[in-house]
Amino acid sequence: MNNEIVDLRSDTVTLPCEEMRRAIFEAELGDDVIGDDPSVNRLQTIAAEQTGKMASLFVPSGTMGNQLALMTHCKSSDEVLLSEGCHIVQHEAGGAALLARVQLRTIQPENGSFLTADEIQPRYRESKDIHYPDTGLICLEQATAAGELYPLETLKEIFQLSRHLEVPIHIDGARIFNAAVALGVDVKEISQYCDSLMFCLSKGLSSPVGSLLCGDNDFIDRARKHRKILGGGMRQSGILAAAGLYSLEKMTKRLHEDHESAQALARAIKKIPDLQLLSEPQISLVFFKNCSTRFSDIEFHKALEENEILTYPAENGEFRFVTHYGVSSDDVARVEQVLRRLFSL
Ligand SMILES: *Cc1c(COP(=O)(O)O)cnc(C)c1O
Repeated sequence: MNNEIVDLRSDTVTLPCEEMRRAIFEAELGDDVIGDDPSVNRLQTIAAEQTGKMASLFVPSGTMGNQLALMTHCKSSDEVLLSEGCHIVQHEAGGAALLARVQLRTIQPENGSFLTADEIQPRYRESKDIHYPDTGLICLEQATAAGELYPLETLKEIFQLSRHLEVPIHIDGARIFNAAVALGVDVKEISQYCDSLMFCLSKGLSSPVGSLLCGDNDFIDRARKHRKILGGGMRQSGILAAAGLYSLEKMTKRLHEDHESAQALARAIKKIPDLQLLSEPQISLVFFKNCSTRFSDIEFHKALEENEILTYPAENGEFRFVTHYGVSSDDVARVEQVLRRLFSL
């Protein structure tokens, strides 16, 4: 990462460190479509162990992992219950309609953060009336795209409801390791409340590419076939899996540093009257608004960029800082300085 620039756009910008590059260089390889790439096999075994699932499947992206979950759990025309703000609805380019051909039934969480069993229950299609789609899946995010966390108790209640209704649960856990660190629990304590789980290696865990879809043996066998259909069968993908193994061994242990950096940025934002922190960061995501008359959102974004601080432009009036392996405590201090100078404090 360039030393001058503080890149707060996303944790996807993380570059592999030297040791990870060495692991990639030294990876033992085979052909994973045939099933004999030892590095991929090891990664899939360890991911399954760490998430408490029977099996897992290495996929090129979190989006593919989510789409495979929809394709594998549902038959076309099924209805999927999920929160309106979630990645599958907002950031997967309508793939659910094209690939799994399911109907997404979005729910706006009343508490603004996460769904509850009471909100999901009435949306279940109990009647077998010919007019209704079948409820095929419940999708939850942990952490949510807004960086919020489901309390374990809420997940448990939704899980119990899902057993009663006989509808599976998929968790989009792109940042599941961040969630586990923030809740102070093992990942398995979260993943026990779902049938399938996707998590990303390419975000805070700093791998260049890849995600894992985890579930039982039958589910993963069927998802592997769907992966092939989507063109996601990769050959010497152990070269990528080696990075993933390093992520699961080493990078999960430092995520608390990113959460501390996020909290430090939140404290800096709170000291600026013209900026409004939207919620206390629980993981590595800090959301805030620019309320000043001095800068429009576009001007504020540009002013940060001129000071070598990168963010995405405001989305729906909200800015986001994302902390990660490439953001040091010196970088955090520099961001605070720049904010104070821009607002003449
Ligand atoms: C990043 C992300 C994904 C998947 O992203 P890819 O860029 O496809 O790897 C899925 N869900 C959430 C909540 C995410 O933040």
